[in-house]
Amino acid sequence: MEVQMKDVTMQFNNITAVDRMNVTIEDGELVSMLGPSGCGKSTTLFMLAGLYKPTAGEIFFGDRLVNKIEPEHREIGMVFQNYALYPHLSVLKNIMFPLKMRKVSKGEAEELAREMAKLVQIDHLLDRKPGQLSGGQQQRVAIARALVKKPKILLLDEPLSNLDARLRLEMREEIRRIQQEVKITTIFVTHDQEEAMSISDKILLMKDGKFQQFCPPQEMYDHPENEFVASFLGSPPINLFPASLMDNLKDVSISGTNDVITLSSPLKEGMDPARQVTLGIRPEDFYIETDEKKQGILGKTIMVERIGRDNLLNVEVQNKTVRAIVSPDLRIERGDVVKLGILPERAHLFAVHTGENLL
Ligand code: ATP
Repeated sequence: MEVQMKDVTMQFNNITAVDRMNVTIEDGELVSMLGPSGCGKSTTLFMLAGLYKPTAGEIFFGDRLVNKIEPEHREIGMVFQNYALYPHLSVLKNIMFPLKMRKVSKGEAEELAREMAKLVQIDHLLDRKPGQLSGGQQQRVAIARALVKKPKILLLDEPLSNLDARLRLEMREEIRRIQQEVKITTIFVTHDQEEAMSISDKILLMKDGKFQQFCPPQEMYDHPENEFVASFLGSPPINLFPASLMDNLKDVSISGTNDVITLSSPLKEGMDPARQVTLGIRPEDFYIETDEKKQGILGKTIMVERIGRDNLLNVEVQNKTVRAIVSPDLRIERGDVVKLGILPERAHLFAVHTGENLL
């Protein structure tokens, strides 16, 4: 089911936790809500769930305005960080519980619960109590319980944060598989950018209660609307250089150095360029330039770290550390002076004051 937020705002006394959110989530999409702690992710989710009533704006599920609809009538399933399973009930009874509340007959409830247990692959654990399950298995029970009522929308609030790294990886793939099998509109809150990048159809990125960007992960990574979005996605993060734009509006001079980078694409049309800019280059968009005549950023290698197939170099430029991912074949060692070449079409340029992407 489609979910639409129109100017949705949540004010707690003098804190605006969510500020005029305008987003439409299409039927069947998996959307990750991402952003730093306190940016308003959970508050937004709670408004969708009906646990908070927005102080302004409208929320639609399909054509239905749900602002005044109580949580139990919204046809949603929810999974929280602490799965809140009933410890004294078996796995089967835990999954059946929401149906019992709805007075579904015992036989039908059990059939539906078994179907869900199969979907999340815990049908061999139905007689156990939650305390006899691993974290990942408990999470599967929580998902089965959320889906057993056949909701139209699934809301997940940091569902993987209590799991260890390997299990997190496994469970995020499972959530994606289950979501695609059931084809349910899913909104997933996380502060982990890698998690959001890996499983979502789209990411909704927030900061200080304000919407930043809403689009598919790769598009957000490649075309961030502003410096905050660019910095939030990517590990190691994007490198940022204070710089100035030359009169020809193509050459960017990196402050404190003699290095100049020529942009390959023109600035956005109608853009009045502020001459002080921030140049952003992702670590993987550097290469080692060996041609003396070609452009690049000069620096001294202070650390070389092997990361899988590649080497991560820490290069000192103007007393700051620049991170570059390059091929280990080049045999660069600590102490080497290197010239970091840039793929010009991969350069980002941000306005200093607004952070807006100028390209
Ligand atoms: P986290 O990742 O830490 O869970 P979040 O992005 O989910 O953070 P929210 O929990 O939505 O952020 O909080 C957004 C802002 O609203 C914060 O400044 C928070 O302190 C404030 N806030 C949240 N709930 C309440 C409340 N019930 N009363 C007052 N302020 C609140």
